Amino acid sequence: MNRRNIFLTILFLSLCVLSFGANTKNKSWVSRLEPINWWTGMQHAELQLMLFGPNISDATVAVDYEGVLLKRKVLTDNPDYAFLYFDITENAKPGTMNIVLSRGKKKQTIAYELKARREGSALRAGFTEADAVYLLMPDRFVNGNPANDSIKGYHQGVNRADLSKRHGGDIEGVISKIPYLADLGITALWTTPFFDNNDTQYSYHHYGVSDYYKIDPRMGSNEDFVRMTKICHDNGIKYILDVVPNHCGGSHWWMQSKPSADWFNEWPQFTSSNYRMTAWTDPHRSEADLTRLTKGWFAPNMPDFNLNNPLVFDYLRQAYVFWIERSYVAGLRVDTYPYNDIKLAAKFIQSIRDEYPNMNVVGECWVKTPAETAYYQSGNNNKDGFDSCLPSVMDFLLKDVLHEAINQSEGWESGMARYYAHYAQDFVYANTNLLMNFLDNHDIDRFSTAVKGDVRKYKMGLAMLMTTRGYPQIYYGTEIMLEGIAGTYEGHRFDFPGGWKEDTRNAFTRAGRTEAENEVFDYLKKLLHYRKNNTVLQSGRMKQFIPQDGIYVYFRYNNEKTVMVMTNNNEVEKELEMKRFAEMLGGITKATEITSGKVIDLNNVKIPAKTVWVMEL
Ligand code: CA
Repeated sequence: MNRRNIFLTILFLSLCVLSFGANTKNKSWVSRLEPINWWTGMQHAELQLMLFGPNISDATVAVDYEGVLLKRKVLTDNPDYAFLYFDITENAKPGTMNIVLSRGKKKQTIAYELKARREGSALRAGFTEADAVYLLMPDRFVNGNPANDSIKGYHQGVNRADLSKRHGGDIEGVISKIPYLADLGITALWTTPFFDNNDTQYSYHHYGVSDYYKIDPRMGSNEDFVRMTKICHDNGIKYILDVVPNHCGGSHWWMQSKPSADWFNEWPQFTSSNYRMTAWTDPHRSEADLTRLTKGWFAPNMPDFNLNNPLVFDYLRQAYVFWIERSYVAGLRVDTYPYNDIKLAAKFIQSIRDEYPNMNVVGECWVKTPAETAYYQSGNNNKDGFDSCLPSVMDFLLKDVLHEAINQSEGWESGMARYYAHYAQDFVYANTNLLMNFLDNHDIDRFSTAVKGDVRKYKMGLAMLMTTRGYPQIYYGTEIMLEGIAGTYEGHRFDFPGGWKEDTRNAFTRAGRTEAENEVFDYLKKLLHYRKNNTVLQSGRMKQFIPQDGIYVYFRYNNEKTVMVMTNNNEVEKELEMKRFAEMLGGITKATEITSGKVIDLNNVKIPAKTVWVMEL
């Protein structure tokens, strides 16, 4: 290179830098662009891109990328937003597409990544009735990374002395216990959300999202979340994502500048929901009650989405598809389903299932009659034609009935008679195998509280949960009979002992558990493994006999096996004759109780007080 060329080169480079400098002096016109990336080859070819920046609505948009068409630009009453709708056709290949924004002669280019989908992503397996689900609140489970307990720019740090504050549990903590869960016999994991939740209070539960494209740094990174789901997948545990279509959080960045006046259901002043989900199924309901149920806010810091606005609908749909596609999510749990306009909620869930046809979804439809619960299960023959698109629903009433039955004395309609009657209502369901059963969860008193720490009653509940129709959900700490405080919201959200390095004991280990805790742990583990390895408890038919004298007997059976479950709800040992069960027993006279391994002589049955025997015939 001669001197003149060097001079020209330097001059050229200087000009480049100048021109680049001139560009960067005008900072990016767009401060938010969501989704942060997308994929080619999605079933739903349309992509909505939300652009946020000062007066971004006035920018002209162009894209030049093979197979990608800019279909339309949708503007709202807020000039700082523009919603671009693209068609990512089947001709589009993975790569970086340039979206060019212009204002007169000024231009800015946004590089946007279209990734390749993971092989088999669309047809990934969902959870089934064969699974046993473990529910945990990450903040209260294990603190795997104390370094992220407090993060600059985030309101709440850690205060373990206060149940309403953050305690420091995180993704790393969950990851560290995946082998423990697999060993216990768990095959599916539902965690409460990990999304960014920068509220000034109650942020620990993460149901008030402040950024849909960011895992809260106090929980870990976006990559940590993906890694956690991958490790679950590799350990035979299906990860269930908690989907919240009803609301975001009061600290969401939208609240500084709402995307549109009708983005949320607005009221002149804070108006709560009436929380009366009966309004959806009540043929005599008033419109006022229904409006209050669905458009009232769940809490002051939970702005209520207007899913009727297609921009909101598409935004949220993509936010959840984004995390499913990016990670190894194998199922969805839908929060507060009936607080939404249920027709839109159904459409919302179906739009996700269109993308992942094998994805299973369980809905939180917190209603208290079998008729209402059945209404929310997909495939139910509802008179009004409504189909929830939820293959699975939670059996909230079962929990009540079981708690009551174990504590009640026997009567015509109490105790086991009441429990039996619950199943006699099963004719209302489209699919009893996909009812999610539980003794407790993060919103209700712990079962340990309901039985006041009585290990006998507690084991009865576990055995009945694990052997009835449907599939079980176990709340973290249930395996050690973790205590709670009845009737208080946070009293069932204690930390798992041993999840923090400063804890005085580690209940994740045998040595760290008390004798009673080990008894409960071993009992549940045996039941979980038996259920995991025997389809009879997953999908076998159920036959029950009317309880007599506090003894309730039911069978699960299929072509391979018959399991007889005998429940003595009395405070005394009971002797019973087997003649009444002849249609199931045939000539069988011996059975093995699966939790103890004992062989039971069916000609001479004396079942101890407050005991359940799970017997393989
Ligand atoms: Ca932490």
